[in-house]
Amino acid sequence: MNATQEAPVLQTPDPLLARLLDAAIEAIGTNAERLGDLDRAIGDGDHGLNMLRGFAAIAAQRDALVALPLASALESMGTLLVMTVGGASGPLYGSLLIAMGKAAARDDASVLAMLDEGVAAVKRRGKSDRGEKTMLDVLVPVQLAWAQSCREGLAARAALERLRRAAKEGLEATRPLVASKGRASFLGERSIGHLDPGACSSFLLVDAACAAFLEDAP
Ligand code: ADP
Ligand code: MG
Repeated sequence: MNATQEAPVLQTPDPLLARLLDAAIEAIGTNAERLGDLDRAIGDGDHGLNMLRGFAAIAAQRDALVALPLASALESMGTLLVMTVGGASGPLYGSLLIAMGKAAARDDASVLAMLDEGVAAVKRRGKSDRGEKTMLDVLVPVQLAWAQSCREGLAARAALERLRRAAKEGLEATRPLVASKGRASFLGERSIGHLDPGACSSFLLVDAACAAFLEDAP
C-alpha cells in the first residue's frame, strides 16, 4: 500500500474496523487515569472519566458498529460521543468523527479528505487552532504529516510511523504553551509546563489507530 493510493479507506465488513475500534477502546480504558491526572493539573479533572464514558458507549455498540460501512460507523461513533462524553471534548471529538464519516461517504473519499474535513470541523466547533494548547496541537500535525506523506508517495508503513511521531511530538509541544481555549485558559501562564489532556487523548487515539493499521501494512 502506498499513502497516495490510500487503501485505509475501508470496505466493510472489514476486520480492520474492528481492530481500530478495539484499539481505541483499550487505549482510553488503560489511560483514563493519566487523562484525569492531566486534567486535574490544568482543568477540572474529568477528562479521563469523560472519555471513558464515551468509549464505554461505543464499546456497548461495538458489534453493531463494526457491521456498518466505515462512513456510518464514524458518524454513529461521533454521535455517541456527543451524547455521552459531557465535557467540551465530547462535541469536539463528535464533530471530528462525524465530519470524517461524511468525507468517507463521498465517492472520492480519501484518508486525506477525511483528516482535512475532520480537523476543519474541530477548528470550527472549538473556534480554535493549533498553538492554543488543545487537541488541535496533535490533530493538525497529524493532518499535515499525512498530507506530506501523500505528496511524497510514502509507503504505508513509513507514513503511519510518521503519523505516530507527529502525534507524539504534537503532544509534547503542548507542554510549554499557554492555554488560550477551554478551562485551562483560566490558568493563563500557570498552564505552562503541563501537557494538555485533550492533546493526550488525541495522541492515544491516533497512536492506537496507527498500531491497528500497522498490523497488516506492507
Ligand atoms: P471540559 O474542559 O469541559 O472539562 P474535557 O476535560 O473532557 O472537557 O476536555 C478538555 C479538553 O478539550 C482540553 O484539554 C482541550 O484539548 C479540549 N478543548 C477544550 N476547549 C477546546 C477548544 N475550544 N478547541 C479545541 N479543543 C478544546
Ligand atoms: Mg475537564
